[in-house]
Amino acid sequence: MSNPHDMSRAVNLLQALVRINTCQPAGNESVVVDFLESQFAPFEDVVWKQRIDHGANRSSLLLRIGPDVPGGLAIIGHLDTVTVGNIDDWKHDPFSGDIIDGTVYGRGSVDMKGGVAIMTDLALALLESRSELKKPLYLVYTADEEKGLTGVRAIVEAQTLSEIDALIIAEPTNNKVAIAEKGALWFRFVVHGRLAHGSKPDEGINAVEIAIKIAQYVQEVVASDVEPHALLGPATASINRLSGGIMTNVIPALAEVEVDCRTLPSQDNAKIRKAVEAFVEQLMADTPGLRVETELINDHPAIGADAEDPFILSVQEAVRENGYSDAPCGMTYYTDGGFLVPKINVPFVIMGPGDESLTHQVNEAMDVDSFLAGRQIFEDVITDYVM
Ligand SMILES: [Zn+2]
Repeated sequence: MSNPHDMSRAVNLLQALVRINTCQPAGNESVVVDFLESQFAPFEDVVWKQRIDHGANRSSLLLRIGPDVPGGLAIIGHLDTVTVGNIDDWKHDPFSGDIIDGTVYGRGSVDMKGGVAIMTDLALALLESRSELKKPLYLVYTADEEKGLTGVRAIVEAQTLSEIDALIIAEPTNNKVAIAEKGALWFRFVVHGRLAHGSKPDEGINAVEIAIKIAQYVQEVVASDVEPHALLGPATASINRLSGGIMTNVIPALAEVEVDCRTLPSQDNAKIRKAVEAFVEQLMADTPGLRVETELINDHPAIGADAEDPFILSVQEAVRENGYSDAPCGMTYYTDGGFLVPKINVPFVIMGPGDESLTHQVNEAMDVDSFLAGRQIFEDVITDYVM
């Protein structure tokens, strides 16, 4: 189904997507959804469509090509990007989508309008070829992946994907096959102790010391009972925010601490949460006058797929045949997949073009060669799966 014309359209789509500003926190994904709908408008009669409007100019979109039967393959891509930060730090306008020396510059070019452009281009090519598909192909475009996961939550609720057989999360991996991703568990503790003179610590309840103690306990719980994962490495817990105290000679009455835990597929976030809550309860019971507020900022499970699954083996074959390493890897960032996969329990890969180390950075840029190689790999996988 490929010809040089198709290739240039894929690149054009990437540029067009980069030119639509979908930065968080506003997102405005509805503008991209309108654009995508217009691309598929000529095939209205044969494409099943579900648009989900979340309000505030935010939308997600689900398309199905091929028969309305159980099974099939879904490709998921988010439409939002992180913010550009200080625009003056960018070498090129983050919304120009210009190609300079074989590279498309712009916010989202890697994370993940590259993947979104590829899935769109290939679906259009399939429709143009009027091929009869044996199995359905779903395109899943989500809003708000970088923050609240609004899109994927609504899609899970709609249950449209409950019968699919396999999933590609088209996030940037440099065209490597990732079959695991870390989970995230973020805590905030607000510790209310008791003020006292610095010379009489016994009379106070030192909120800063207790905040540190709780944070260190979280680190201990996350690291214990789990061996490093072959593809993801160890579970981690970083104490990334800490504030409290007023003067050197005053026992502080108030402190706040935030811990960012990244968990492994063999870990249960709920179990960690319960252990931490029990520890905090015990501290309060042991320390009359102490009050700790525990807030869960983020709770996203880790996921891992079976490396021997036939779908994953077929993706590896496509990657290999296109000259890339087929060694499976893991991703430390989390995706919509962490929310979706546990609900539908299917084999998945995280795979897409672009250098993942450039995501969320200034001067984010997609190498066109890597992008076109990614397109070819996706084409091979899709052809193998649904034709
Ligand atoms: Zn992403």
